[in-house]
Amino acid sequence: MSFLILNKTKNSYARIGQLSTNRGLINTPAFMPIGTYGPVKTLSPKDLNDVGSQIILGNTYHLYLRPGIELIKKIKGLHNLIGWKKPILTDSGGFQVFSLAKLNKITNDGVFFTSNIDGKKHFLTPQLSMKIQKILGSDIIMSFDQCPAANIETIELNKAIKRTELWTKKCHEYLSLNNVFKESNTHFFPIIQGGTNEKLREISFNSIQKYTKDGIAIGGLAVGEDKNAMFDIISYLNTIIPNSKLRYLMGVGKPEDIIEAVSLGVDLFDCVIPTRNARNGQFFTWFGKINIINSKYKDDLKPISENCKCYTCVTFTRAYIRHLFKINDTLGLRLATLHNVYFYMELMKEIRMQISKDSFFEWSNKIKDLISSKV
Ligand SMILES: [Zn+2]
Repeated sequence: MSFLILNKTKNSYARIGQLSTNRGLINTPAFMPIGTYGPVKTLSPKDLNDVGSQIILGNTYHLYLRPGIELIKKIKGLHNLIGWKKPILTDSGGFQVFSLAKLNKITNDGVFFTSNIDGKKHFLTPQLSMKIQKILGSDIIMSFDQCPAANIETIELNKAIKRTELWTKKCHEYLSLNNVFKESNTHFFPIIQGGTNEKLREISFNSIQKYTKDGIAIGGLAVGEDKNAMFDIISYLNTIIPNSKLRYLMGVGKPEDIIEAVSLGVDLFDCVIPTRNARNGQFFTWFGKINIINSKYKDDLKPISENCKCYTCVTFTRAYIRHLFKINDTLGLRLATLHNVYFYMELMKEIRMQISKDSFFEWSNKIKDLISSKV
């Protein structure tokens, strides 16, 4: 097995584990910064290494449209293109096709869509998604799924589950035929759909579980549903997914949501929040969120966070960083992203440490409100 659980807690379902990949070990719970078109916006691979990123996420849909798979094939993979040597998880493009593109038609074979970039027409199939992810050289390949919007009718959810089952089978067949499982320690994660309906989640899990070896993803959450409903589903899935499988909660989230999901047995996360919010001037800290644009920081000579050891905090004042945002200098975006990604990596490190000491439950109760507050 490539995923090992190293330690569990007594008062919650939180656990620490290790996933081995061709490009190294990933200590879980882990968070993946997002490099939509390749780079994690404003950061270099050296920056990512310095802040302790173990793995990043690349978007199949975006990379397929720009720069296109021919260039990535020529340079022999996404790692070479972007200069990153550690693992990359690639999503399947499914979520983006349904959320960004103009959909023309969904069939059991795939999705006809019009690009949101240049208006060109494409047909994305489970097989093509696998082919692209193989060319990208992904370490964790995600299954092509149908991700429906929140609060749709049960009948539509049912259709999405059935199609996701069929597409997962096709993805797995493609990867098997192309020797992806034989030649390397490349992972394939199927995705559970079913909205906030427990019965449908169970049906979806049962229909795809035979295609998972080490990990499985929870998709279709954080798409606009009620937050309690989201945690109820994660809690429910925790009772049916075998403990031995790595659980990846797609698209989550805020620090407090990550802590909550870890307590329900989730091991892997990704989200645009630390990087996107950074570019809007929002900084995450252990004592809450700072909006640096706020005029109260105009003459503030303290660092963003006194106990933070990132380059931004050991070098610059709040006043200067606010100034950078006010004059729209790109350095401000970069320093903010650097801090937020560092903070997320420290958060995951702290979570792993608290689990190993079996103090996660007490720690999480103390920290959750503080971390989610606004300074
Ligand atoms: Zn910092």
